[in-house]
Amino acid sequence: MTRKVPGFIIGAVQRFLLGTVFFLLVDACSNRIHEVDQTEIGFGSYFRICGRGKKADEVRKTVRRAFAEMHRLDTLWSNFVEKSEVVRLNRARTIPVSAETRNLIEKAIALGAATGGAFDITVEPLVRLWGFYDHSYRLPESPELKNLLRRVDYHQVAVRGDTVVLGDGVNLDLGGVAVGYAVDRIVEILLSGGLSEGLVDAGGDIRVFGDRVWRIGIQHPRREGVIRVLKLKNRAVSTSGDYENFFEVGGRRYCHIIDPKTGYPVSHWVAVTVIAPSALEADAYATALFVLGDNGVELLQALPGVGALFFEVRDNSVVGKEVGLVDE
Ligand code: AMP
Ligand code: MG
Repeated sequence: MTRKVPGFIIGAVQRFLLGTVFFLLVDACSNRIHEVDQTEIGFGSYFRICGRGKKADEVRKTVRRAFAEMHRLDTLWSNFVEKSEVVRLNRARTIPVSAETRNLIEKAIALGAATGGAFDITVEPLVRLWGFYDHSYRLPESPELKNLLRRVDYHQVAVRGDTVVLGDGVNLDLGGVAVGYAVDRIVEILLSGGLSEGLVDAGGDIRVFGDRVWRIGIQHPRREGVIRVLKLKNRAVSTSGDYENFFEVGGRRYCHIIDPKTGYPVSHWVAVTVIAPSALEADAYATALFVLGDNGVELLQALPGVGALFFEVRDNSVVGKEVGLVDE
């Protein structure tokens, strides 16, 4: 997806998990527990599946199927793969697309409405203008930016039957929501394929399932190491931070999350971590709450089952405030 591989290396190493790999191998003759912990590259980052189930063969097959599905969805929604539905749609403006792409677009439009437009899948021209796709960063001129703002509005995306219609000059970037959707889909596959508990981690978009309580480390936004450890059961967590893809000019930091209303990268927080029932919600709301600043805190309070940690820099150190349900 939009997070490209060069950036992922830092993210992959730093957004790590605590206490996730130490399963005990139980190997009683009649009740064999099989464990997996595998990582592949996907969605411009690493994609890790770990979990356990009773039947070794079933678990192995299920994990293979899950990774195949992950690669399929990555190709379908990438902004970088020629044959992806997103690239073809951006080029042709009106094409029939698969049911799951329509479903994802509809969900993203609903999230646009729920966040007052802070989350907007039509930010593509802005992300491109600032150079965040290929790390060719630049400060755009104001008229150029104003001109592009006309092309950024999720209301100009319509799903009609099996066809998606884009308004004039409108281009999609599903990067703020596709990874979360994929993680949910993979968890569904793992559960239906005999895994009783596990964790899926797509470059920091994480969902855990089963009865176990998992300890998840949240990366410190300004240095190596962990700023907070969360205890989670059957939930998802996602972090949007200004350290993932950014550049600095004149001591000011410009990051890859853009306010669709102004066209400028936002900097109210250094990171926002969202805990939600699904990875789709965690992923999208982390991006949206990052954009919304203090208004995001108000929005969050009205969202059932969703909690967040807002991190900001005060007196040269990072402080966090917790809103809603965060830990188990
Ligand atoms: P995340 O790192 O999950 O917050 O996702 C950020 C990605 O979503 C960026 O790399 C862009 O591709 C895209 N994006 C940036 N700003 C927005 C926004 N306001 N709404 C939706 N997607 C965005
Ligand atoms: Mg996100």
